[in-house]
Amino acid sequence: MSSTQISNNETLELLPLVTSSETFPYRSDASSAPPYLYNVPNSSGNAESEALPYGDVQTPIGRNDKIPCKLCNHDFILADMRNHVGKHILRAHRGEPDSSLPANLDIGINPCGWCGLDGCRTQLNATSQGTKRTTSNCTYHYAKMQYRAAEISTPRKPCTNLPIHCPVCPSRLNGQPQTFWKYNLIHHMTEYHLLN
Ligand SMILES: [Zn+2]
Ligand SMILES: [Zn+2]
Ligand SMILES: [Zn+2]
Repeated sequence: MSSTQISNNETLELLPLVTSSETFPYRSDASSAPPYLYNVPNSSGNAESEALPYGDVQTPIGRNDKIPCKLCNHDFILADMRNHVGKHILRAHRGEPDSSLPANLDIGINPCGWCGLDGCRTQLNATSQGTKRTTSNCTYHYAKMQYRAAEISTPRKPCTNLPIHCPVCPSRLNGQPQTFWKYNLIHHMTEYHLLN
């Protein structure tokens, strides 16, 4: 082996780390939302059907804009939607009837906390200073949510369903562990981290 040859591990460390931005790595002609990459291997090497968000999808919905709940179709402002959707999710996960939902509607085991549907991808990004921000491809993503305030349950906003990091999964190469919605983490823990 020549002295200039580098090992696999060294190669990994030589790869530059880049931070997400709205324009990296691609931007569409229309300057609309940046694309998402799917089926990207996670840090443990498993190819999961997971989208890596590059920057926030720009949402035209303001915090006080009224939007229909995608589950029950009642209107709420964006800033209250996560709290509202959390009630549907809790009921569904506990097997309690939810008369506000259409009879044929099933909430999955990994619903998006912003909109209640399956398939949205949200990532929590925590800085070493303790700042927590979220990125998501959900159209109901409330990017300006005050994370610290949302962690505290209040009579008006009891829901604490928030994107949180799995305490067991290894961090990704960007230094951020895998993100799950708090109400859904139990399913991930039972599926991946609990031994018989
Ligand atoms: Zn609803
Ligand atoms: Zn969503
Ligand atoms: Zn995990």
